[in-house]
Amino acid sequence: MSKNPSVIIVGRMNVGKSTLFNRLSENVKSITLDYEGVTRDFIKDTVSWQGRFFDLIDTGGISLRKSMDPIAEKSRQGVLDLIQTVDAVLFVCDAVAGLTSEDREIGKLLHKSGKKTILVVNKMDSKISAENIDEFRQLGFETILEISAEHSRGIGDILDLVSNMWPAKERALPEEKTGCNVVLLGKPNVGKSSLMNLLLNKERSIVSEIAGTTREAFSETISFYQEDIQVTDTPGIRRKHSVTEDLESLMVKSSFRALQETDIVLLLIDASESKLADQELKLAFYAFTEKHKGLILLFNKQDLATEDSKEFMASSIDEYKYLIKKVPQLNISCLTGKNVGRVLPLVKEVCERYNQWITEEDLTILFKAAIERKPLYHKKSILIVYGAKQIKKGPVTILLIVNESDWFGPSQLMFFENLMRANYNLVGVPVRFVLRKSWRAR
Ligand code: GDP
Ligand code: GDP
Repeated sequence: MSKNPSVIIVGRMNVGKSTLFNRLSENVKSITLDYEGVTRDFIKDTVSWQGRFFDLIDTGGISLRKSMDPIAEKSRQGVLDLIQTVDAVLFVCDAVAGLTSEDREIGKLLHKSGKKTILVVNKMDSKISAENIDEFRQLGFETILEISAEHSRGIGDILDLVSNMWPAKERALPEEKTGCNVVLLGKPNVGKSSLMNLLLNKERSIVSEIAGTTREAFSETISFYQEDIQVTDTPGIRRKHSVTEDLESLMVKSSFRALQETDIVLLLIDASESKLADQELKLAFYAFTEKHKGLILLFNKQDLATEDSKEFMASSIDEYKYLIKKVPQLNISCLTGKNVGRVLPLVKEVCERYNQWITEEDLTILFKAAIERKPLYHKKSILIVYGAKQIKKGPVTILLIVNESDWFGPSQLMFFENLMRANYNLVGVPVRFVLRKSWRAR
């Protein structure tokens, strides 16, 4: 399928990038989330203008200025990498503020990137901006457009210019993914291959007592109620070398790759052991919270579980109840076959929840009513949600249109997540939020 040309909006803080993004994508409802930022997600919208289409990318206000802070620096690198992949750049400056040193730095960087850049001088709606406009020629860009995003002036010029930069093409719609990908994760010897074989009903991977016998991740597709479920067995996680070692290095490379590509993680835990290993919980937490995967916990080897091991397991789980209460658990035994028949139906349920759509109207009403009942504040400022809309399924991803995205921290988002969990069946699936600021109520 043909790809739309892509255009990225960059510029320093407060020059009007969000306002411009909202203006350009005003009439299009197909916001998608394609690029994953380090600290924020980039939003992509397919803009149509007179029968032509292009993808517009908003980078969520990541600064292009070099930073000492490693996280900010990583985000900046992410944007720089993204710039390399796009077809053109809209470089936004603020005519009221005039040309700044940061504008010059960004300008240099864009010249160096060699990307086709359109300089967009925004806020051309006051006397001072008319006085400042000439300065921006110093940046050395051939194409300069003067606009006022807030007053919708010059927006048509941008659309004309950008949409005519490439030959007209059919619109490229994102492909709908079907089926469900599941990956089996867990320590070596926990029973992943045994479960895989039971699910597939055949002796495929060699089951053995020696830890780590299954070397490479491999996938098989199982048809279950007309649905394709692709199950991947993995070599699992390595033994912990040190407490500080990060998860990525604890996981065998191919398992890590399998995790990236999957929808649902089946985490196998050995119920005959007296305690959950730290890395297993870390992995579960990482998959669910950071990678936004569906999660099911399977406590295997129930035939070997003793009263003691059950008690220990229950108490070690207790520490993680804030996560565990969100995900389904099943006690199984690959040896006796106990509850193995319930695994695929459970997978199917979680997959359906992972891929559900919630209507915009329901969500907006839910969120607005909740913060009317219980207003949320950042310092003394009230948080406003103008609208909430699910923009992606698998995982359920909610775009919140708010008055100020930076005011919505983890605890505020937790509030919205809990609200959703109380109102929809989201057992086993994460909820992901993307914030976008709007200067006006919708
Ligand atoms: P961003 O940080 O670059 O995304 O900037 P925003 O879109 O959030 O805009 C920053 C501020 O500039 C907001 O208070 C906007 O209302 C204001 N603003 C945006 N566009 C214009 C404009 O065309 N004219 C004027 N005067 N203000 C604008
Ligand atoms: P993997 O390394 O996670 O793929 O684990 P395997 O599937 O290779 O299993 C390791 C060992 O545990 C094998 O000897 C299996 O027969 C055994 N095993 C797997 N599931 C169970 C179970 O439910 N009960 C008992 N008693 N043994 C099991």
